[in-house]
Amino acid sequence: MIAAVLDLVAVLLLALGLKGLSRVRSARSANATAALAMALAVVGLLIEIRPAPIAWLWIAVGAAAGGLAGLVTARRVPMTAMPETVALFNGCGGMASLLVALGVAVFDSIEAGPVALVSILVSVFVGTITFTGSIVAMGKLQGWLGTPPWTQSRLRHAVNIALAVICLVAAFSLPAAPAGPPLALLVLAAGLLGIGVTLPIGGADMPVVISLLNSYSGVAAAAAGFVVGSQLLIVAGAMVGAAGLILTQVMCTAMNRSLTSVLFGGALGGAAAVGGGAGETGYTRITSCSPEECSMALEQAERVVFVPGYGLAVAQAQHALRELSKLLEAHGVEVAYAIHPVAGRMPGHMNVLLAEADVPYEQLVEMDAINPEFPRTDVVIVLGANDVVNPQAKNDPSSPLYGMPVLEVDQARQVFVVKRSLGAGYAGIANALFELPQTAMVFGDAKAVLNALAAELRSMGVGKAKAAV
Ligand code: NAP
Repeated sequence: MIAAVLDLVAVLLLALGLKGLSRVRSARSANATAALAMALAVVGLLIEIRPAPIAWLWIAVGAAAGGLAGLVTARRVPMTAMPETVALFNGCGGMASLLVALGVAVFDSIEAGPVALVSILVSVFVGTITFTGSIVAMGKLQGWLGTPPWTQSRLRHAVNIALAVICLVAAFSLPAAPAGPPLALLVLAAGLLGIGVTLPIGGADMPVVISLLNSYSGVAAAAAGFVVGSQLLIVAGAMVGAAGLILTQVMCTAMNRSLTSVLFGGALGGAAAVGGGAGETGYTRITSCSPEECSMALEQAERVVFVPGYGLAVAQAQHALRELSKLLEAHGVEVAYAIHPVAGRMPGHMNVLLAEADVPYEQLVEMDAINPEFPRTDVVIVLGANDVVNPQAKNDPSSPLYGMPVLEVDQARQVFVVKRSLGAGYAGIANALFELPQTAMVFGDAKAVLNALAAELRSMGVGKAKAAV
């Protein structure tokens, strides 16, 4: 009875946690709520199964090892490596579901009923694909794995189809011997299929794949819930599966990619990613200026919008940005931050980054809300952002970015682009914004430039004047 109540409370808290995660303001507390839900679920399970004394030792060792690994990872991993970390966690989720299903199939004498068999089948198949696919995704994002040339040819489709057929044959042979060779064949073929599907996908598309794999890990967990008869696992897995699928759809829309082109077009995403950081060519009308000139424009402005991008995260310049904003606000300037849904390298990257520096949530304005505001903005400072402000996405049908919604900073009166060089962003293409008459480049590391701007403003007495009023 106590276990059932704890399960119910855990499910409700998990649903509340997921809902809270959709808003920046409530995300931190929602994360804690979801963690509490998981803790209650574990307690409920322990009460229900009443482990034998020897099992407690294993449970304690497993909980300590897992908890320590999670703690160390959370503390050590830099924000820029978050996609790799999420990929690894997805892989762990897939592997857990796989092991649970294998454990039941091999060590428990399962009834050969259709529900038990299908649950084991789905759990093993999806869990294995999630595991190997996620490990490949992590390896690619870390730069440990490249994209082998054969994966860009039709051969990969043939290989993947052959592996899928082997999985089907193994699945149909499973009822005859649930713990026999078909199960091993299924694990092997699904593992290779996970590698074969993920390996060709390029870095630019990888976060879409990671959210899809996240969804798969939920499906595998839900299937594992059927295997062990845990309603909690079924509900939690279904929620993760649905949330991952919705996120995948949102990211595809924001990047103007279809899921089919991500999964079966592989080479395109790869080409885009490989191009990132290169491509300084072709600019003929670049205007650059010093932090001093930029600070003079800021001093005169009534409304300033900062556009953070991946480079801000690389430079870890969020605190310097906050300091500059405080100076401007003390001077009576209206400040806002324009948030593009795919700025950075993971969903919500900029929100997390700016939250670290205690930027007030109400100053973070989503793309759809801030775009109409740019024409009344005096100064836009683009900080390490590139693709998300590229006007070619609106104007140039031949651009790979064409159709992707962007921040329309070109509508503002003055634009300063802070970056180290004229190098390209993730999409690997030139940016028409840099050559517009209202744009000036401020070359340098984002943190160094922001500190220089703040120093210039202080030397003009900017913070002091209004603070004294
Ligand atoms: P971006 O287009 O990748 O451009 C980042 C810019 O930051 C680069 O041009 C780079 O120029 C500059 N930079 C790097 N280090 C810097 C530093 N220390 N100081 C100053 N500037 C620095 O970034 P974005 O505008 O944020 O766009 C994100 C891109 O990633 C989009 O193409 C999006 O589709 C893709 N993407 C996003 C996600 C997601 O979930 N958010 C997922 C997958 C793909 P320099 O080298 O010249 O400094």
